[in-house]
Amino acid sequence: MRFPRRSAIVWFAAIATGAPDAIYLNGKIVTVDARFSIAQAFAVTGERFTAVGSSAEIRKLAGPSTRVVDLHGRTVVPGLEDSHLHGAGGGPGVDLSNARSIADVLAAIRERVNGSAAGAVIVSNSDWHEAQLKEQRLPLRRDLDAVSPDNAVVLMRGGHEYILNSAALAKWHIEKSTAAPEGGQISRYPDGEPNGELVDRARTLVRLPPNRLTEEQQIDSWVAQYKKLNAAGLTSVRHPGISVEQYKILQEMKRRRLLTMRVNFLFSLPSDLSSLPAKPDEGDEWLRAEGVKLIVDGGFEGGWMREPYQEPYGKDGTFRGLQLIPKERYTSIVKELNRLGWRVGTHAVGDAAIDQVLDAYEAANADKSIVGRRWAIEHGFLPRDEHFARMKALGLVVTVQDHLYLAGPSLVRYWGPKRAAYVTPVRAYLDHGVRIAAGTDAPVVPYPPLWTIYHFVTRDTISGGVLGADQAITREEALRAITIDNAYLTFDEKIKGSIEPGKLADFVVLAEDILTVPAKRIEQMGVVMTVVGGKTVFGNLN
Ligand SMILES: [Zn+2]
Repeated sequence: MRFPRRSAIVWFAAIATGAPDAIYLNGKIVTVDARFSIAQAFAVTGERFTAVGSSAEIRKLAGPSTRVVDLHGRTVVPGLEDSHLHGAGGGPGVDLSNARSIADVLAAIRERVNGSAAGAVIVSNSDWHEAQLKEQRLPLRRDLDAVSPDNAVVLMRGGHEYILNSAALAKWHIEKSTAAPEGGQISRYPDGEPNGELVDRARTLVRLPPNRLTEEQQIDSWVAQYKKLNAAGLTSVRHPGISVEQYKILQEMKRRRLLTMRVNFLFSLPSDLSSLPAKPDEGDEWLRAEGVKLIVDGGFEGGWMREPYQEPYGKDGTFRGLQLIPKERYTSIVKELNRLGWRVGTHAVGDAAIDQVLDAYEAANADKSIVGRRWAIEHGFLPRDEHFARMKALGLVVTVQDHLYLAGPSLVRYWGPKRAAYVTPVRAYLDHGVRIAAGTDAPVVPYPPLWTIYHFVTRDTISGGVLGADQAITREEALRAITIDNAYLTFDEKIKGSIEPGKLADFVVLAEDILTVPAKRIEQMGVVMTVVGGKTVFGNLN
């Protein structure tokens, strides 16, 4: 136990608030305070922690109506946070998240085709990746034709890629002679025919049927998604790029007290910046606007690199990925956002993309300082050594995710083993004093935060073994990255991210001791109970 001056804090808290609503005793409380102190117990009044200390100290605070909860030795951590989460996955499309082979994908498509009208467009959900398939490759146009010769099929995959069958290519007039729009790629079979894969801006050739969910259905969908995320231990998320319509849905949920998740968000870049319905940093601890999301390059198959991709993806040394926006235009948008007081988070995967972002951020900083504004680089897969000092000088935070955990073998094929092993070098970021905030990019990568922690402390991957073991961080560092460092990114480190008196009572009871179990067990560890603002949103202690 490391508790200097704790009794004084307890005494002060007890005077300040009267008897607590609840006390939690006999646990292993991983507070994630500045000293990474371990406590046994804490008290909650209303939506905040009011005292933290030993079981004996906290027990003394109880009044006649205080609820006394025995943790029976269980481990408690601060509520887990995801700095880059789009959604929980799922949706009305064909579910491919459980497919483990091309045959599984095709069976799911065939089933949907059989239940659909002639002419209906078959669309999949996006929460799957070919690294989960035993063939370790994408299902392509001719695979899909076998199960859907007539209905158009569009497989959505992650945030950067569609795969179309022949009926879909015909529907949108994508032919052998069609050129890819700038910032996009139409992949082809060796005979030059499109193989169905459309990357990044090439997806704009496709006009999907509009989302016909009513406002009530959208609310129901978000409520269900947040419940799933709560069950995995998440109490706060940051959405990178939401529409004005989605913002209005979230506002309505907050108004009706339906939020079980604290939400920070970046707006997607609108065509007219003055049309944004919120001011920078507007909102509260339930829902707050942070800034605007920009994108400069592709993802797994389009991250923009200084050096070509590994062959054959390098196309004889000519393919370096996709630059989605010219440097001058991007820089002028960044400067304009800075002038208007918005913070910026930019998707940048490859080293050349990071070059472009840092140049633009430095140019904006020369107009009006962004230091201390906690601007972000989203992903930052492949920084160069000289990038670290520039990031640090601007006070940037890099949001880091476990893409490698999901897609390791694909990244080895696209970028070669050396680059793949360095993807998301969390050790290097921390060693160079660059702040990170952990998350998943769900539904691109599955959302469980314990998988993220497992990957960051081991660099193990789902199907490709350990990649870049030298980039592993400690459990303490990983826990900070997924709690207090996330809170720092959104200027919330004084109100959440650790278990300390005065902070919001967001916490998670884990099934095992995350600090001492063998690392492999972290991956499978259960969440017993999740509490947000003193209210249980998942599970129980019985
Ligand atoms: Zn993303």
